[in-house]
Amino acid sequence: MEEETEKKIQWYFSLFSGKIYYADADENLDVFQIPLKEKPSDKYNCTSCYGRFYTDYNPTQKHFTPCTRCLKKFADLEKMKLIKNG
Ligand SMILES: [Zn+2]
Repeated sequence: MEEETEKKIQWYFSLFSGKIYYADADENLDVFQIPLKEKPSDKYNCTSCYGRFYTDYNPTQKHFTPCTRCLKKFADLEKMKLIKNG
C-alpha cells in the first residue's frame, strides 16, 4: 500500500483531454471535469469503452463523450450535483 495521505486528492475525468487525472480536492471545478469516486483500476475492463472512459469524440462540441457505464460506476454524483448547482 502506498501512503499518499498528506494532501487530499480527487480523481477527475476531463472531457477536453479524455484523460483521467487527479488534483487537489479543493480545486475549483467546472462541468467539464467529472469527479470520480475512485481511480478506475487498470484491470477494470469496460466492454463499452475498453477502460478509456469515453466512447466517442464530439468534434462540434470539442469534447469527449464519457462512457455511461463508467460514469455510473465511478462518477461522484454527489459532487457533480454540487458543481451544477453552484
Ligand atoms: Zn466504460
